[in-house]
Amino acid sequence: MKPHPLAQPAASPRGSIPGGCDDCHAYQTVKKVTGRITQITVHHDNTCPALRARQNRRNTR
Ligand SMILES: [Zn+2]
Repeated sequence: MKPHPLAQPAASPRGSIPGGCDDCHAYQTVKKVTGRITQITVHHDNTCPALRARQNRRNTR
């Protein structure tokens, strides 16, 4: 079985939430850390300008 490349959106694993960034087709994943605390991670596209800006800022500090 070969999934059609165009039928599938960019890598968004099961349980992920679309969105999270206005500048790319990001998705979010929710991870349970402890009973009450969950961690939401935003996964940006590699080409995301917002992500690049964030990384540049981190490098200069
Ligand atoms: Zn982004």
